[in-house]
Amino acid sequence: MKSLIDIWKENKDAQKKKNTKFVRKLKKHNGKHLDKFTAKIHDKVFEKIDCINCAGCCKGIPPIINKNDCSRIAKKLGISVSEFQNNYLTIDEDNDTVMNTSPCVFLLENNKCSIYEFRPKACKEYPHTNINFSKNLNYHATNSMYCPATFHILEALKKSVPV
Ligand code: SF4
Ligand code: SF4
Repeated sequence: MKSLIDIWKENKDAQKKKNTKFVRKLKKHNGKHLDKFTAKIHDKVFEKIDCINCAGCCKGIPPIINKNDCSRIAKKLGISVSEFQNNYLTIDEDNDTVMNTSPCVFLLENNKCSIYEFRPKACKEYPHTNINFSKNLNYHATNSMYCPATFHILEALKKSVPV
């Protein structure tokens, strides 16, 4: 039987445009209801996908780093905040401060995160499908290209939420 990750690899490109249109149409739904409904699907999908077999986000999407992340991670690394900023961060096209390497420099060969307990808030919250799904509608279609879980959550929503 194919894994959800294999199914994602085979279908993600074909669904990209449809997903973009679908999430746009989800904007008309009540955000709170949508978040609650999606959180249940999130839990079911993540029962079948182990992030250790994937690490697509760590390999493909540099996380946004906020001020608290900077201080926490710099402390963990034993360097100053300015050293951390100069050596590890950059500004992206949206003017956000992000990690300057992709795959992430903290990703280990076994797909684990070497700073897991201190990882950025954005990494903890990714892929934004269990809380605040409705506030992140602009990102889910793009995320479905990197994240098999997001892809399958959108597939389940397409089957159950009228747009
Ligand atoms: S900090 Fe850790 S969780 Fe975040 S992208 Fe890097 S390896 Fe992944
Ligand atoms: S891309 Fe999605 S499924 Fe893959 S490791 Fe990140 S959160 Fe987990």
